[in-house]
Amino acid sequence: RPIRSKDPLDGLDPEQRAAASAPRGPVCVLAGAGTGKTRTITRRIAYLVRQGHVAPTQVLAVTFTARAAGELRARLRQLGVDGAQARTFHAAALRQLRYFWPRVVGDAQWDLLDGNKLRLVGLAANKVALPTETEVLRDLAGEIEWAKACLVGPDEYPSAARARRRDIGHPAERVADAYRTYEELKNDRRLLDFDDLLLHTTAALEEHREVAEEFRDRYRCFVVDEYQDITPAQQRLLDAWLGGRDDVTVVGDANQTIYSFGGASPRPLLEFTRRYPNATVVRLERDYRSTPQVVELANRVISGARGRPAGARLRLVGQRPDGPRPTFSEYDDEPAEAAAVARQIRDLVGNGVPAAEIAVLFRVNAQSESYEQALADVGVPYQVRGGERFFSRQEVRQAMAALRTASASDSEAGTTDLPALVGRVLAPLGWGLRQPSGGAARERWSGLQALYELAQDFTAEFTAVSAGERPALARYVAELEQRASSQHPPVVDGVTLASLHAAKGLEWDAVFLVGLAEGTVPIQHATTEDAIEEERRLFYVGVTRAREHLALSWSLSRTPGGRPHRRRSRFLHGLAGEEEPAPRVRRPSRRRAGTRAVCRVCGRDLESTLEIKIGRCADCPSDIDEELLERLRQWRAEKAKELKIPAFVVFTDATLVAIAEQR
Ligand code: ATP
Ligand code: MG
Repeated sequence: RPIRSKDPLDGLDPEQRAAASAPRGPVCVLAGAGTGKTRTITRRIAYLVRQGHVAPTQVLAVTFTARAAGELRARLRQLGVDGAQARTFHAAALRQLRYFWPRVVGDAQWDLLDGNKLRLVGLAANKVALPTETEVLRDLAGEIEWAKACLVGPDEYPSAARARRRDIGHPAERVADAYRTYEELKNDRRLLDFDDLLLHTTAALEEHREVAEEFRDRYRCFVVDEYQDITPAQQRLLDAWLGGRDDVTVVGDANQTIYSFGGASPRPLLEFTRRYPNATVVRLERDYRSTPQVVELANRVISGARGRPAGARLRLVGQRPDGPRPTFSEYDDEPAEAAAVARQIRDLVGNGVPAAEIAVLFRVNAQSESYEQALADVGVPYQVRGGERFFSRQEVRQAMAALRTASASDSEAGTTDLPALVGRVLAPLGWGLRQPSGGAARERWSGLQALYELAQDFTAEFTAVSAGERPALARYVAELEQRASSQHPPVVDGVTLASLHAAKGLEWDAVFLVGLAEGTVPIQHATTEDAIEEERRLFYVGVTRAREHLALSWSLSRTPGGRPHRRRSRFLHGLAGEEEPAPRVRRPSRRRAGTRAVCRVCGRDLESTLEIKIGRCADCPSDIDEELLERLRQWRAEKAKELKIPAFVVFTDATLVAIAEQR
């Protein structure tokens, strides 16, 4: 609920406050993960609105992933700022382009090229006599995307590609020919790819004065989150939006640059003050997100990075109370790793950590499937971030059908309360304002709830953009259909399964970083030093997502019973310092011949002598009888006194615990 009375600067530390309340004009926050950059910009927007410097509808906040944009919108709504736009660069460009298109291009219909991109690249490759295997086409598509993100045309491509020192195994001139041909084929078919959205919007603003004037009249305040990952094409669009004005706030962390393979660079962030000498610059060091244990690990991970620019050498200082030590676990194979992670998640949920506060993060999406299976096996709901499956869920398909039917009989005039109307349509399918407890009903509810929340977001945004006008149900249905076709699912309750890239900017109470083996982290194709450093930053992004529990794991083989040929990631070396005991390594599925002892709580194989003695693995909660243990201790003390020997000679602590647990 909006907290309208709250002072937007409440709950900010002095540095955050300085950035949030800086006068209008350029502001730059350079700071590490979890230091409150995103919090600061949302408060800044609320502050500027509250002070009457801008109207909410004059604010455009941009970031890089749909989820991060959703998060920004949610935080703004909580602050009572309705109507400020928070979007990804691409979504903002698409919306603007739709609006300006008729004036810029005329009536001609253009379509978005989404699923068919590789086919078109294939046609181009064929025309210039390059191979057309999927792997090659992916590389070519990647090169074309990189070139467009860097504003490099086909003619400049060969020299730019050589300077970049990335070899995709084909002569740069031929790749340039393929790029040129791809552009021609695409234009002939009147198609726009993702990168065109930015380029065309920029061109519309740069080349059409009346378009630029209208736009500049509408937006006056620009905010960019995760600015360390801006590409030249995005920077140029931002410049076109600004049109010489300097009302721009940027926040970022050069240590979290994870898209440089796609043309992103932290340089605009690090050189912001050179461009705007009058900028307010703030550095934050206090980490409010994670326990000191997680912060310490994060500092170690990033201090190993090579060639860090001066602006990136920040050390995080943890602010939260102590929490559990991060764990390091090794498994024989991937299914064993997934099963163990799923069991730990089930236990966390059993101990009251909400499933939505837990994430499993991996390097490549193909890893997701083992974890989906393992979570389904232990009955914990999950959602795949950036995944396509949301729109194929049964309850979502039923809801879409019901909404379509309802919209057909609804008037194309707006409804006064769209979310309530959507709620009425969803109710017979199992949705209500209260969340049902447990099982399938709850999972079903969470899918429907996501649609309901989307209706709330959509209404707020629609109303803001269209000067108070109300959306009709059909508009909402159209929005859903567009999302379904562009695979852009809303947020659902449940454990998040996501790639490290998709996790940027987000946080969870418990994070499982899985598959930390060489070849995966760093990924096999990262061969240059720069590419390895980017992988390290990606690992750093993963570590810094955890508020409290952080579990790092890897497996020696991908398939069950496979040759244990993989090694743990080089980034894990030396993470447990001298003052700490060495990381505990667990191999639960390796069995000693003939002696199979299993944990009586979770059923997994036991390894250490102590575990076997107490019949429980060290991860599982103890059901020890403390009173009995105390009596045993007293008895031991008396016995030791009587025999004049140290107590541990009578019985070690572990033995006492084992006796107490087994009674
Ligand atoms: P990232 O680099 O990962 O995007 P960030 O710098 O944007 O991180 P935020 O997401 O804004 O960090 O904040 C991290 C967490 O710390 C959030 O839960 C936020 O609410 C909390 N936080 C930030 N500043 C403060 C503060 N001054 N007091 C208490 N909590 C804070
Ligand atoms: Mg952030």
